[in-house]
Amino acid sequence: MRAIDYTRADSLEAAVEAFAAVGLDARYIAGGTTLYDLMKLGVERPAHLIDVTGIMGLDTIDTDGDVLRFGALALMSDVAYTPAVQEGYPILSESLLKAASQQLRNMATVGGNLLQRTRCPYFRNGAGSLSTVGVYPCNKRVPGSGCAAIGGLDRGHAILGVSDACIAVSPGDWPVALTAMGASVEIHGPAGTRTVPISDFYRLPGDTPHLEFNIAPAELITAITVPKAPSRSSTYHKIRDRESFAFAVASAAVVVEMEGANVRTARIALGGVATIPWRAQSAEETLRGKQLTPEFALEAGRAAFKDARPGQHNAFKSDLGARVVADALMIAAERSA
Ligand SMILES: Cc1cc2nc3c(=O)[nH]c(=O)nc-3n(C[C@H](O)[C@H](O)[C@H](O)COP(=O)(O)OP(=O)(O)OC[C@H]3O[C@@H](n4cnc5c(N)ncnc54)[C@H](O)[C@@H]3O)c2cc1C
Ligand code: SF4
Repeated sequence: MRAIDYTRADSLEAAVEAFAAVGLDARYIAGGTTLYDLMKLGVERPAHLIDVTGIMGLDTIDTDGDVLRFGALALMSDVAYTPAVQEGYPILSESLLKAASQQLRNMATVGGNLLQRTRCPYFRNGAGSLSTVGVYPCNKRVPGSGCAAIGGLDRGHAILGVSDACIAVSPGDWPVALTAMGASVEIHGPAGTRTVPISDFYRLPGDTPHLEFNIAPAELITAITVPKAPSRSSTYHKIRDRESFAFAVASAAVVVEMEGANVRTARIALGGVATIPWRAQSAEETLRGKQLTPEFALEAGRAAFKDARPGQHNAFKSDLGARVVADALMIAAERSA
């Protein structure tokens, strides 16, 4: 058994100082629903946990100001059931309610959700307790060791944003909805406070798949802000292997602004098919100014996957994903009526 130190921070400054004192073996912990899981699998091996759940004011949900502002420690279920979010921004509420189970959503925070790691089975099942290299090569877990998924069992893997080093899917639903909404992430760290657009928060795997997020180890997410654009005509549409709790096989977050039957603007992001929450700009451009028929929605869906790079078992995601985009577009447009 390995001993793990534990500190409960009562302020942002105390949390950052505690982290800096330990260094790279420290981890912040919020709901613990992902981190404890990875520790049990031997993928994460922190020597020191810094619990941030005692920091006052980080769980505030503010829907009255100029932007929607969700404190990083707000629970997924609390954000999902906030009336102003449910009524005005179905895309956000649905992305949270279609993620995980009610029990998990009652524990998990919207900040921790942004930093969950891939569910690639080779990444999660290879570490064991005896060796950090593990049973399967995985460049995300051990840089330079290889990738067991490429040429392996890749049904659940990405077809967009892939590299020769990693094809792991970005697993979260909420970050996909935030990407379609043009959200930003507020971050506090030893060098002060900064704000990062969500489009810059996730890193493509390239040849460094172990570097997944643009946040330094000692930095804390403090809040997520979302522009208050009219977003009633929006949806998060998710297809999974079973309709209870499961990660997305393919999903689409869509916000449309209609002018009669025509699309004035569309914002589309994809989940379950890409290595980061994926903004589908080619599909958005296809739609601008066009009449939204089911046939044209499917054409836009296909445009979203024109650069797909499938492996052995996941080529079906192009067709499934195109249909998910098409259905999401029709659902969102119907809500604008
Ligand atoms: C069985 C199961 C099914 C799931 N299904 C889904 C699903 O369908 N869709 C989906 O989107 N998610 C799903 N999840 C993932 C779940 O949503 C995440 O585990 C959860 O949102 C993480 O939040 P947390 O507060 O528990 O994070 P933690 O586990 O506490 O932390 C996660 C990571 O974030 C870091 N961290 C936490 N808070 C901060 C902060 N404020 N600043 C900086 N770093 C921080 C931690 O160090 C850790 O690395 C599932 C999880 C499980 C276990
Ligand atoms: S896809 Fe990425 S996470 Fe999965 S085994 Fe390959 S390198 Fe590791």
